[in-house]
Amino acid sequence: VFDVLVVGGGPAGAAAAIYAARKGINTGVVAERFGGQVLDTMAIENFISVKETEGPKLAAALEQHVKEYDVDIMNVQRAEKLIPGNTIGVQLASGATLQAKTVILATGARWRSMNVPGEQEYRNKGVTYCPHCDGPLFKGKRVAVIGGGNSGVEAAIDLAGIVSHVTLLEFGSQLRADAVLQRKLHSLPNVTVLTDAQTTEVTGDTTKVNGLNYTDRKTGQSHRIELEGIFVQIGLLPNTEWLKGTVELSKTGEIVVDTHGRTSVPGVFAAGDVTTVPYKQIVIAMGEGSKAALSAFDHLIRTSAP
Ligand code: FAD
Repeated sequence: VFDVLVVGGGPAGAAAAIYAARKGINTGVVAERFGGQVLDTMAIENFISVKETEGPKLAAALEQHVKEYDVDIMNVQRAEKLIPGNTIGVQLASGATLQAKTVILATGARWRSMNVPGEQEYRNKGVTYCPHCDGPLFKGKRVAVIGGGNSGVEAAIDLAGIVSHVTLLEFGSQLRADAVLQRKLHSLPNVTVLTDAQTTEVTGDTTKVNGLNYTDRKTGQSHRIELEGIFVQIGLLPNTEWLKGTVELSKTGEIVVDTHGRTSVPGVFAAGDVTTVPYKQIVIAMGEGSKAALSAFDHLIRTSAP
């Protein structure tokens, strides 16, 4: 039986594991993919005190730091069910059930999809969600970025340096990205920005993407763009499907936590992008993970027999 079992191996989970292990208690981490979203990130310039780093480098450092401590890391293991009780069960896809006195949920979030015809069919055949992973595959080709928030505009700026042309499509009447990013975007010669543009279909020749159709929401007219790649950047979804019916979730599926990282289930805490805490960022996820571990420790000293 673990004192603290962390589910998730991103920045929040890694921080929680280190803070728990430093209390000298029996700590485990279950992660589907240790490193989490950080693995999909290239330049990170807002990890405070480190002017610039790269995602895979930071992810490797997270794992190394956790391994400095006596933490049982169970990587490439998916949690499928949380079973509340005096000791809390976490059932894995492998069939095994782990037992713990406290659990910290840190399963993060993932990119949202457009849900239009052709999107699933052409996934990894031109439709992608990760510019840093797949950008170089489209060298010299034409691509679209869907979404005019920070991630979409960052992706368009990034891709403009690799591909021949980028069309950015934003559903609303204006971009939502930070002004500094928008200025950068508009300074690039090979980027076209379309607002009020609703993507309606991804088309292809059955083996790969050859274009997309969109409706101009101002005129109602349909248009077609011929291109080879589509980067979807329209937001994040919390990884909480497996928790429905056990811990309280918000309308958007985030785990509801209080200021101590406590969930609606005693002994179960949560941290990072998976929670209602605003601003999904690495330093925030780490701070919240640390806080959840300290709260779990506090819970243990109040509830465990001496
Ligand atoms: P995640 O990083 O999402 O980690 C979740 C962990 O849980 C993973 O290990 C995952 O495999 C695991 N998991 C999920 N479901 C299960 C399950 N059922 N069972 C077991 N394990 C599970 N932030 C910044 O601060 N600066 C940036 O420059 C920056 N750039 C970004 C660029 C990109 C492309 C992306 C995608 C994100 C970026 N972010 C950036 C956001 C940052 O990566 C996240 O805020 C941060 O990773 C959240 O950490 P987390 O630990 O909460 O979740």
